[in-house]
Amino acid sequence: MPEKPYQRGLVWLRNDLRLADNTALYRAARGCQALAAIYIATPQTWSSHGDGDNVVAMRLRSLAALQHALAEKHIPLYFLELNAFAEVPQAVVQIAEKLKVNALFANAEYPLNELRRDSAVRAALKEVGVPVEYCTDRTLIPPGSLTTNSGDGFKVFTPFKRAFISRHGNSGEGFAPLPAPHALGTEHESVWPEWIALAGENNLVRTIPETVGKYGVAAGGSDKVLEWDVGEKAALKRLKAFANIVADYEGWRDFPARENTSRLSPYLNCGAISVRQCAKMALDANAGQWMGGKGSLSEGASSWLNELLWREFYQHLVVNFPRVCRNLPFKPETVGVPWSQRSEDFARWCEGQTGVPIVDAAMRQLNETGWMHNRLRMVVASFLTKNLLTDWRKGERYFMQQLVDADFAANNGGWQWAASTGTDAAPYFRVFNPYSQSRRFDPDGTFIRRFVPELASLSDRDIHCPKQDLFGQDNYPQPICDVMESRKNAIEVFANLKS
Ligand code: FAD
Repeated sequence: MPEKPYQRGLVWLRNDLRLADNTALYRAARGCQALAAIYIATPQTWSSHGDGDNVVAMRLRSLAALQHALAEKHIPLYFLELNAFAEVPQAVVQIAEKLKVNALFANAEYPLNELRRDSAVRAALKEVGVPVEYCTDRTLIPPGSLTTNSGDGFKVFTPFKRAFISRHGNSGEGFAPLPAPHALGTEHESVWPEWIALAGENNLVRTIPETVGKYGVAAGGSDKVLEWDVGEKAALKRLKAFANIVADYEGWRDFPARENTSRLSPYLNCGAISVRQCAKMALDANAGQWMGGKGSLSEGASSWLNELLWREFYQHLVVNFPRVCRNLPFKPETVGVPWSQRSEDFARWCEGQTGVPIVDAAMRQLNETGWMHNRLRMVVASFLTKNLLTDWRKGERYFMQQLVDADFAANNGGWQWAASTGTDAAPYFRVFNPYSQSRRFDPDGTFIRRFVPELASLSDRDIHCPKQDLFGQDNYPQPICDVMESRKNAIEVFANLKS
């Protein structure tokens, strides 16, 4: 077997927009004498999945940054805009034939429609004799590979985590990041011009657009993305900066006024950084241990690794329980929750006008910046689904449209967890009290003051729950509901469902 079995390889880039530790790119560079890369935008499908301007702009800007890095390695990147996933197999076959490639490499994606698209591409390419390799890259281990003793996927996080650590967690073995491909040599330069000429014939372009389909940097809220430096260099810089404060993570990660979380989610989701690179940083800071306890150096690092495992858990969940990709609750019995039809409540929640300061501050953070702190995502999701008894799917979709880090698996998992339709091990009567969350995690109201300036002059005590005579000042609304009453009502609704 020759060292490089394929003369020409094609790497199909998706949400894996980096050179270093990119499994598909690495395997393609090792297996092919010449390489080109392609990115396929499918705005109609993206739109039907709920992807908003912010996450799309993050993708396109990251892709443009990667194009420069690829060019330095003599790997041309082509961009193709189609409408929907259904058009992809035929287009990939045409491109493979035109570019005369002998193999296709890509990193696997796990939501149901992505899996179906990828198996259709594999089947179509098989017809023309082009093998396809889909690699594990978005997760630490292949989804579906970690099961309970009875062979089922895990439904609850803690047993999943224990099984992961006992099977794969020893010193992070097997998760060492891969190097970036080296400059790929003269044979690439010799075929490149020929490929570029061919590209012109196939609606393939070499310039990454700023907008695709209905999306537009100018048209939507995507200028918020400009606040995030894009590309893998920016992501690695952020990881390095976070490594300096990871020791404080456990103590401060729940306080939204402080910047003590990594804010790496937009980069992890478009793939400007890999989960292995993140895990390596934290394992290095924690004597190679996944969890605290014996041998552990840093409570902060082990707590952060725990969050990376939450991410892993939700990615596995969509493969093990694909019904969550069909707009269905994870717990089938919750399909009958009589959700409220009060569209006005939902509108006020979206706008940050509920009259509950911490909820409004969080929603305004989302609307103004395209990002929201994790503690607040839990608070606002609980408030919408329990106190306002609004269908979690409405909140899930609104988050997808706004978040710069929108990711189906994490978002669906987070929403269903909060709504008690998902994998929360605690029973349905977990309802966050927004006022106590506010007092506990924003004690002096710094975060509320930043996003709800109408309340800025209130005392540290009043700001969490303004006194009745203070509501109405500067147009700040009265609370949309009584949190104790609405909590009781939600619990009753779920209890009736059970019986
Ligand atoms: P850090 O605290 O630094 O954590 C590091 C990384 O671990 C994150 O970047 C993320 O990849 C992962 N992570 C952390 N917490 C979680 C979690 N609870 N679930 C899954 N992964 C986690 N995360 C998304 O990436 N995209 C989403 O669309 C998304 N929607 C959410 C919706 C709801 C209702 C909830 C409750 C959570 C959601 N999360 C989502 C998870 C979490 O809120 C974000 O990942 C986190 O706030 C990102 O900030 P960070 O990078 O500073 O996280």
